[in-house]
Amino acid sequence: MIPAKFDYVRPSTVDEAVAALVAAGEDAKVLGGGQSLMPVLRLRMGEPSVVVDTTRIDEMKGITDAGDAIVIGAGTTHDAVTKSDLVRQHAALLAAATDTVADRQIRHRGTVGGAMAHADPAGDQPPVALAMGASFTIAGPSGRRTVPASEFFVDYFTTAVGPDEVLVSVSVPKHTGWGAHYEKFNRTAQAWAIVGVAATVRMDGGSIAEAEVGLTNMGPGPVKATAVEQALVGASTMAAITAAASHAAEGTSPNSDIHAESDYREHLARVLTARAVAKAAGIS
Ligand SMILES: Cc1cc2nc3c(=O)[nH]c(=O)nc-3n(C[C@H](O)[C@H](O)[C@H](O)COP(=O)(O)OP(=O)(O)OC[C@H]3O[C@@H](n4cnc5c(N)ncnc54)[C@H](O)[C@@H]3O)c2cc1C
Repeated sequence: MIPAKFDYVRPSTVDEAVAALVAAGEDAKVLGGGQSLMPVLRLRMGEPSVVVDTTRIDEMKGITDAGDAIVIGAGTTHDAVTKSDLVRQHAALLAAATDTVADRQIRHRGTVGGAMAHADPAGDQPPVALAMGASFTIAGPSGRRTVPASEFFVDYFTTAVGPDEVLVSVSVPKHTGWGAHYEKFNRTAQAWAIVGVAATVRMDGGSIAEAEVGLTNMGPGPVKATAVEQALVGASTMAAITAAASHAAEGTSPNSDIHAESDYREHLARVLTARAVAKAAGIS
C-alpha cells in the first residue's frame, strides 16, 4: 500500500527537530531508521501530517565513553552497536541482544533509539535497557530531561517520549567484566522473539554475585525478573540456577496469540532464563 500524504521535514539539529514537532501539534511522527514506521504508514495504521526525519542529526549518532556509562545516540544503527568495541566490552548484553535483531539489512537501517521509542513488547533491546538500568535523554520544548528505564516503558508501544519530544540518547551503565547472554526463542531465524531472556551476571569465585535479567514479550513492555535476580545471588551450580529460574514468570502477563498461549510463554520464560543465566555465568 501507499502511505497517506504527509509533509516531510529533515532537520539537522535536535532543537530544529523539536521545533518541527511543536509546529505540527500532536500530529507528527519522528523517523529513525524507518524499519517499523514505514510499514505502519504503508498499512495506514498511522497517518501523520508531518514526518520529522532525524537521520541527518549528527548529535544523535555514535557511541561515546562517559566514564561510568556508555552513551549511545538514538540514531545509532543496530549494526554500529554490534560492531562497537565499547559496547562489547562494557555492555556485552546489549551487543548480544542486538545481534539477534531481524536481518543484516534491517540492522543497517534500524536504530537503537527507534527500537526503544517503538517499544514493541517483542523488541529485543528494551529488556536489556530495563535489566541494566539504562536511562534515556529526551528533548522537548521545555529542554532536556533524563528518564530511567523503569519509567520509560509505559505500555504497549508507549513510552515516556511525548508527541513533541525526541529521544536523543540512551545511557547504559558499564558492566565491564560481567558475563552476558541473550536467549531468544523464535519461530524462524531472524524473526521477533516469542519469548526472549536477557541475562548478565557478575561472578565472584565461581558464584553469581549479582544478576540482572530482563524478559521479552512477557507483558505489555519489557519485564525485569526481580525475583530471579535475587534468587540467583550465590548460585554456583546448574541446579541452583534452575531453581532461581523457576521464578521467571512471576509478575508477568504474557499474551496468547497465534504463536503461543500465555502459559506456554510462562514455561518458556522459566526454561530460557535457566539457559541464558547458565551461559552468561559459564556454568553447565
Ligand atoms: C522484518 C522485520 C523484522 C524485525 N525483527 C526484529 C527483531 O527480531 N527484533 C527487534 O527487536 N526488532 C525487529 N524489527 C524492528 C527493527 O529493530 C526496527 O529497526 C526498530 O523497531 C525501529 O527502529 P527504527 O530506527 O527503524 O525506527 P522507526 O521505524 O523510524 O520508528 C519506530 C517508532 O519510533 C519512533 N521514533 C524513532 N526514532 C525516534 C526518536 N529518536 N525519538 C522519538 N521517537 C522516535 C517513530 O516515530 C516510530 O513511532 C524488525 C523489523 C522488521 C521490518
